[in-house]
Amino acid sequence: MRRLICLFLSLLLAACSANSLRVQTAAEWAQEVQEFKAEAEMFQQVSRQVGEQARKECLRRSNVTNCEFTALVDLNPNAQANAFQTLDNKKQPVIIFTRALIESADNADELAFVMGHEAAHHILRHIPRQSKNARDSAAIFGELARLGGADGAGIEEAQKLGAEVGAQVYIKDFELEADQLGTIITFNAGYNPLIGAKYFERIPDPGDQFLGTHPPNAQRVKMVRNTAQQLGLTQ
Ligand SMILES: [Zn+2]
Repeated sequence: MRRLICLFLSLLLAACSANSLRVQTAAEWAQEVQEFKAEAEMFQQVSRQVGEQARKECLRRSNVTNCEFTALVDLNPNAQANAFQTLDNKKQPVIIFTRALIESADNADELAFVMGHEAAHHILRHIPRQSKNARDSAAIFGELARLGGADGAGIEEAQKLGAEVGAQVYIKDFELEADQLGTIITFNAGYNPLIGAKYFERIPDPGDQFLGTHPPNAQRVKMVRNTAQQLGLTQ
């Protein structure tokens, strides 16, 4: 449960450890690191190309106006392989990669795919849509508890549970939507999403858990293949 709450908060508020997060832009990182120079330069190149295509895709949609993407590196060497999307203080989209993720990518296509996927979460307004689902569900659960005769504390508990459930309900659909648009962005940026999606083959498969946060890997790979096929890409 702790993990779930942490994840929920991290999706809404950026990161669990937002206060201790130390980040650097792709360019600064590439300048500074010697140890992982090749990875840092690859990351910088991918950030530039994917960022540009994500911006174009974002500007094409009338319901999103903040489209200036920045890729940042979480400098904590012990952070697990992870990438996530948040907003900076000017409400512009930021995609944060941990060093472990950058180092675990086999090639630029994998990095590009993960970045395209995260950018797609922003373009598809998944964070605000998830917050709205949480609020709506909290209100419904609270109302049901009230009708059931719950007291103030009981209603509050029900609202909290409702918020958690509401935030989780469409989360797998959001992941697949992000894979779909992420495939298009990756392709437009000059990378191969079919090679990029091989990253899934190396991460643990979450299976088909009810209220799990990610769809089964096979479902994600299928979405990428179908979308790539529509783009005329077969391998
Ligand atoms: Zn995602």
